[in-house]
Amino acid sequence: MAALWELSLSELTERLRRREVSAREAAVAYLDRIEATDERLGAFLHVDREGALAQAEAIDASRAPAGGETGRRLLWGAPIALKDILAVKGQPLTCGSRILEHFVSPYDATVVERLRREGAVFLGRLNMDEFAMGSSTENSAFKKTRNPWDLERSPGGSSGGCAAATAARQCPAAIGSDTGGSVRQPAAFCGVTGLKPTYGRVSRYGLVAYASSLDQIGPVTLTTRDAALLLQAIAGYDPRDSTSLPAPTPDYLAALDKGVRDLRVGLPKEYFVGGLDPRIREAVYKAARTLEQLGATVEEISLPHTEYAVAAYYIIAPAEASANLARFDGVRYGLRVQGRDPIEMYSKTRAAGFGPEVKRRVILGTYALSSGYYDAYYLRALKVRRLISRDFEEAFRQVDVLVTPTSPTPAFRLGEKTEDPLQMYLSDIYTAPCNLAGLCGISVPGGLVEPERLPVGVQFLGKPLGEETLLRVAYAYEQASGCARLRPPIAEEDRPDSLEE
Ligand code: GLN
Repeated sequence: MAALWELSLSELTERLRRREVSAREAAVAYLDRIEATDERLGAFLHVDREGALAQAEAIDASRAPAGGETGRRLLWGAPIALKDILAVKGQPLTCGSRILEHFVSPYDATVVERLRREGAVFLGRLNMDEFAMGSSTENSAFKKTRNPWDLERSPGGSSGGCAAATAARQCPAAIGSDTGGSVRQPAAFCGVTGLKPTYGRVSRYGLVAYASSLDQIGPVTLTTRDAALLLQAIAGYDPRDSTSLPAPTPDYLAALDKGVRDLRVGLPKEYFVGGLDPRIREAVYKAARTLEQLGATVEEISLPHTEYAVAAYYIIAPAEASANLARFDGVRYGLRVQGRDPIEMYSKTRAAGFGPEVKRRVILGTYALSSGYYDAYYLRALKVRRLISRDFEEAFRQVDVLVTPTSPTPAFRLGEKTEDPLQMYLSDIYTAPCNLAGLCGISVPGGLVEPERLPVGVQFLGKPLGEETLLRVAYAYEQASGCARLRPPIAEEDRPDSLEE
């Protein structure tokens, strides 16, 4: 018999619904699993055993008849873990930063409210790059998170804790945020699924802002079905986020098995140039062939401004961050270091509270926005952004979805890129354009590369509000590829089966 923690989120919620498993049993299974593995992995910044058990017991005690009011809740009793950037009332909210080390959130984010309403139980807070700035989780002020496939490698970032914990089966799913790839790239590095919804599809209220015109919240899961389930729970209009889209929420789960027979899939030719690991290129081509065999048509398309995307992103994101992070001044939130006057207090607080990458971005962003340089940098980057959006609009006139790599390489070694920020930035080449253009995107497992036995991600990109089609393609590919639910060594060794055999 499989252990509870081996189940996908959908399988687990099904058992919870049928009352074969109680919410408490589910919570305990994962809490014990975290305890047994997290010393090695470092995915969690804070585990809320007491709170999770109390939530689970309350759910069990509500005893609604199966199929009754609570029987229809999407996540009734299902444990979920959250990136430490989403506000949960009464819980720590550090964003991986010293400046918020002792900060406790006074309110719930909209996604947290919605997850609660659907009956989710929160296991704890997951590690991340400080303020979501990074691609390896090494910018966390608190700890290293390791890749469950190879403990010497990075889990990716900035939602590295989400991906590592999900891959290692410390939680059946997690919720992260994606500004330039932070859900999709770590999902690819850890062999799990990561979805970035369309800009405005999920409310950002209660997500600590990094770059507001790019940030979106998205699920990290073991399967495409699980991603659809979580999107179903968190999507929808929210008057508290002025950029939230008023569009109705479709039935994402119903869209999954519609197949790809009538769909057109595009391969962007500019995505398959130098710097891409040939084994990843092969995995993506293979995915395209798989979709073709399933009845889709595949054609090459062009996104001519691709080569400028990383440069534009690394002007726009730091510019917005420099403004958003001005609120951490020692007055209202978190750390305060005393000074002789307010100016000295601000600067001492920020000097002590922010890590080097955050400082670099605040300085770069402030520079790009400063008078005399605004036109040369920020305004130009906005024009490039417009051109990139236009490339996608053009492409989506010809095809319904794009298939691309998620990252140019599999997981790199811890420490490998920390000395060279530019190398780290370049690893966002396939993910950042999706945020710049406000599209939706998903990374799904595309197998393992040898000899390292590391997972690679295959990314699908869809039109704004095209999640149904996106999920449908991802699901078809996942079913046909046999690459889903890869199991890293750390989730292999403790299986009851492997013990019994
Ligand atoms: N790696 C990118 C950055 O450092 C993206 C991070 C994110 O999506 N939050 O900005």
